[in-house]
Amino acid sequence: MTELPARRLLLVHAHPDDESINNGTTMARYAAEGALVTLVTCTRGEEGEVIPPALAHLAPDREDRLGPHRVGELADAMKELGVTDHRFLGGPGRYRDSGMMGAEQNHRDGAFWNTDVDDAATHLVEIIRSVRPQVLVTYDPDGGYGHPDHIQAHRVAVRAAELAAEPAFRRDLGAPHRIAKTYWNRVPRSVAEEGFARLRAANVFPRAGTVGDVPGVVDDELVTTEIGGAAHAERKVAAMRAHATQIAVEGDFFALSNGLGQPVFATEYYQLVQGEPGAPAGRREDDLFAGVTS
Ligand SMILES: [Zn+2]
Repeated sequence: MTELPARRLLLVHAHPDDESINNGTTMARYAAEGALVTLVTCTRGEEGEVIPPALAHLAPDREDRLGPHRVGELADAMKELGVTDHRFLGGPGRYRDSGMMGAEQNHRDGAFWNTDVDDAATHLVEIIRSVRPQVLVTYDPDGGYGHPDHIQAHRVAVRAAELAAEPAFRRDLGAPHRIAKTYWNRVPRSVAEEGFARLRAANVFPRAGTVGDVPGVVDDELVTTEIGGAAHAERKVAAMRAHATQIAVEGDFFALSNGLGQPVFATEYYQLVQGEPGAPAGRREDDLFAGVTS
């Protein structure tokens, strides 16, 4: 095996753009610090709605070429963040975007929601045993907001972490590896409320979203970790702009295809759900690797 960097971070996401919205600051920081940042995206986001009218022809009900286009957007976003190791689970196009909960696309052949969790997790086990991350970042069991691909990404990530550590499982996929710390993406409620107050005052989008539109909002006390830094946050905004079919960025705010304005969270927040906290009780960690010893 070739020499791996000392610190290794794995992020598992459902669609291209989720990584930049949720973790852009974090990914930029750790890439800049020389950590290995590995992004695994589970689908190409084929069912997304297209914002720019000039690209509307890519949509799934027209040419159905949004998937390959978003592969390119993701590559551009990763250049902005300085992340070189980004992959699609099972290869690009192996699993298809399942659409919103209840859509008929949920049950289509190849839809990520419709796939066997252990089968999908096996692809991720191979990656985990190869890059041997100390830290895993993914969604909570509800996927942050109930989207089927986000729920499935959570299930696959958790299952893969279990199987990767299991000595008897598929030794042909590499030596067992136990991930030291697992985090869920979070936004503290007070931060979300403050962000929407700024948005309403700035009045940059005709319609503002609400705290309920933000995935992963929880009471502040549940948040264990925060990762900030102005320079890294600038890279985050640049990465979000690269996802032009999905995100319209205006200053410190953005909108998805529903047009509802939301604040960009320059600082990102996490809840440690597995592993030992690296900060004293009552204090938030400022490093996902805090307390990691090897
Ligand atoms: Zn998504």
